[in-house]
Amino acid sequence: MRNPFNPACLDVRAFVQSGGVLAGTLGLVQLPRVNDECIPGAGKREVAWSARGELRRAEAADPELWLHLDARTCVPMACQRCLGEVDVDLVVERWFRFVASEALAAQQDDGSEEDLLVMAGDFNLHSLVEDELVLELPLIPRHLACPVQPRLQLADQAFESAAPVPDKPFAALAGFKPGKGV
Ligand SMILES: [Zn+2]
Repeated sequence: MRNPFNPACLDVRAFVQSGGVLAGTLGLVQLPRVNDECIPGAGKREVAWSARGELRRAEAADPELWLHLDARTCVPMACQRCLGEVDVDLVVERWFRFVASEALAAQQDDGSEEDLLVMAGDFNLHSLVEDELVLELPLIPRHLACPVQPRLQLADQAFESAAPVPDKPFAALAGFKPGKGV
């Protein structure tokens, strides 16, 4: 049977209420915010993703609509130490709860451990996959052990010796107020 749900235009309520499942692959070229952080040619890499809906508190007057997203890929980035190519694994495994409006999401955000999304009849799962992968991108991609001698090492050392951590020998004493209660 053909899956009635379109990941790029998902009726969230119907998907979750039916315990729907969707899975697919996306070329990195379809996720420009991830692709742009990678080295040229990364676009032919693929992201495998899956999503499933889960209705919780189904008997309650206000059942909760949850979505579990799983996405994984391996992207080639430029190592910030040797500038060579480094493969970075990106893995997303996350629960989301849908709420009715932006206002509710803002109101409940602080008290919720899970991530909140705003309910939609045309929700774009591909954009969610992209959003979550962007969050997983390392700020400073680098090899655990660079295959070649890093060209930046000298610069690193110069930087470190030029910017010593300020020494504050008296900082620990600042809290002492002699004389009080003595
Ligand atoms: Zn490296």
